[in-house]
Amino acid sequence: MSSKSLWKATANDMKRRPVQQGEETCDVVIIGGGFTGLSVAYHLQQRNVKTVVLEANTVGSGASGRNGGEVLIGYVMSMQALAEKYGSDAARQMFQMSLDSIDLIENIIKEEDIQCDFFRNGNLLAAYKPSHLDGMRREQEFLYKNYNFETKIVEKQDMHTEMDSDFYHGAHIDEKSAIFHPLNYCLGLANAVEKYGGTIYEHSEAINIKRESHDRVVVETNNGRVIAKQVGMFVNAYTTDVHKLIKKAIVPVESIVLATETLPEDLCEQLIKHNRAACDTKNLLYYFRLSADNRMVFGGSGRTTSKRDAQRLFDNLQAGMVDVFPALKDAKVDYKWSGKVGFTIEKIPYIGQLDDGTHFAFGYAGHGAAMSTLLGKIVAMNMLNEGDKNNPLDRSNLKPIPFHSMNATGLGMMKYYFKFLDYIS
Ligand SMILES: Cc1cc2nc3c(=O)[nH]c(=O)nc-3n(C[C@H](O)[C@H](O)[C@H](O)COP(=O)(O)OP(=O)(O)OC[C@H]3O[C@@H](n4cnc5c(N)ncnc54)[C@H](O)[C@@H]3O)c2cc1C
Repeated sequence: MSSKSLWKATANDMKRRPVQQGEETCDVVIIGGGFTGLSVAYHLQQRNVKTVVLEANTVGSGASGRNGGEVLIGYVMSMQALAEKYGSDAARQMFQMSLDSIDLIENIIKEEDIQCDFFRNGNLLAAYKPSHLDGMRREQEFLYKNYNFETKIVEKQDMHTEMDSDFYHGAHIDEKSAIFHPLNYCLGLANAVEKYGGTIYEHSEAINIKRESHDRVVVETNNGRVIAKQVGMFVNAYTTDVHKLIKKAIVPVESIVLATETLPEDLCEQLIKHNRAACDTKNLLYYFRLSADNRMVFGGSGRTTSKRDAQRLFDNLQAGMVDVFPALKDAKVDYKWSGKVGFTIEKIPYIGQLDDGTHFAFGYAGHGAAMSTLLGKIVAMNMLNEGDKNNPLDRSNLKPIPFHSMNATGLGMMKYYFKFLDYIS
């Protein structure tokens, strides 16, 4: 079994990019080469704004190249809960943004001819307990009544029309969500940035940001420095000490994923009948989908602090996969990997510009495959002074999470995480 991800093993083009060296100037320096940072660069370059992207490792080596590739509408919390918390106008805007984010990705993929197995067949949210289906019915009604957005409820006895599994008590289906090969999308976006004249450096960690005046910022790397008018930090859960406030506003939580051996096509057609994204309502949630090369890709939560822990967690995840899909009892696991998911204290993504001038967008809580491209575009618009001032996700007055380091490591953090995920119970 490989410890590299399925996505890396099946990547289209992992070309090597140069290391930043010496001194250079540009309009905007972007820290982080995942979906968010690359989307900022892509949208700026299209307007002839000269960008330099600094990536500490390789393009897509953070969450963007490791995720489940489920491009989902909505947020980790239900829209009902968001409307109660933020008001109906803000929630409506947030919901529309989540729909727009997938349209944007679809357009970029078409425009740039990115080969990333994008299939827009919807998402199936599976009810772990009978009571969870009641919550889904309420959400379905809410979405229709408030946004005229139609979804489908599947009763337990009809679940075989969607999945070869008796594990769940029904499901809530939207037809707008999608799946893709996340690393190939990310690499395609990087190629597009370069096509429009942007520069991407790999193995080029930003180690210091020095603001010298309102239109001059210097970002130091190990081998040089980049001087720009504006700077953006898009490191999400892979944040380091380079910007302490941003670090203290995000909580990284680990997630693990496995991919089986290639399965017979007719078995795949039975397992998930309409090639949808899928996830469930367990506190320790599972998410799963098929890959374009006919593997089951199955993810869950877990903190792989030691090698033994990691083995146990992957064994449990595989057992969980067989609980859901007994037909996979003898399926070999070919790949297993992990990555860090970023949460904010409010469980919604944040975007904004700090008093020190730094732009940011992060904290997608497991929904960033969709939202990060859109928030990257909005950051680009903000940098051009063309952004919408009434963005409900704007947190330019960002505050550190109290007791952040304890949150990130302690048991309390795990409870916090479970609560985040348990939004429908
Ligand atoms: C295992 C897993 C499964 C997931 N599944 C899903 C899913 O199915 N659907 C979904 O919507 N979301 C999912 N997510 C979340 C999603 O992947 C993220 O929300 C999204 O990729 C965030 O993109 P990003 O560009 O903001 O951050 P990242 O992709 O994490 O990129 C940040 C980059 O910044 C770089 N960096 C950090 N510090 C520096 C520095 N000082 N200098 C230069 N570079 C630096 C890192 O190396 C990294 O490449 C999952 C995440 C994980 C880990």
